[in-house]
Amino acid sequence: MSEIGRRNAAPVLRIRVPWFDNSDIIRSLGKTLIGRVMNPEMQNVGSLVTLMPKIWKLDDDRVTGSDLGLGRFRFDFKREEDIFQVLETETFTFNEWMVSIVRWEPVVRRDYPSEINFWVRIVGVPEDLWEDRIFRRIGDEIGTVREVDEVNAMVKVSIDGTKPLCFEIPVRFEIEEVDVIVKMEYEKLFGYCETCFSLRHDKDSCPESDSCEDGEEEDDLN
Ligand SMILES: [Zn+2]
Repeated sequence: MSEIGRRNAAPVLRIRVPWFDNSDIIRSLGKTLIGRVMNPEMQNVGSLVTLMPKIWKLDDDRVTGSDLGLGRFRFDFKREEDIFQVLETETFTFNEWMVSIVRWEPVVRRDYPSEINFWVRIVGVPEDLWEDRIFRRIGDEIGTVREVDEVNAMVKVSIDGTKPLCFEIPVRFEIEEVDVIVKMEYEKLFGYCETCFSLRHDKDSCPESDSCEDGEEEDDLN
């Protein structure tokens, strides 16, 4: 990445765009979902924007998909109720890897969108401590908790798909003076690296395994 920057010696031009009234554009984006594939090598965005409307059974012109480049895409809907119907079907995957799909928001962050909502089963909490606030506290460590189902020890969490998944956390339950390794089971999870738990590559392309093979491990890790 940095190499490209070095090769490209042309001076960077800064373009100044004067203020203009974009409220009509913003209004039209009210029925837009925006998304990103997590593993562009395995997920062709052109195929995704063609196939997703068929999967959603909205291929009769009710939604139009566009490839935005760099792994991003958008879907413009005609009807609000179709958006709700689609969002009900989360968590999203394509070609066996994860996809982030969110309602459009005026965000200029470079990695937007990267949010993925998962239902996560939390395994290992003693049954007599199954309470909303315990699951919420654990869920907060892996993302932003949206819902808690304490009957089934599950939390719905928005995670940042650009960060590695967390599969276990040591928890100290002071009330019973026990330390437990609590495990997370993600529903509808496809495609992640078994070495570093990233959603963006498989273990054969893992930068962490490369560095091990090249003998570049840092001394303080030994
Ligand atoms: Zn990896």
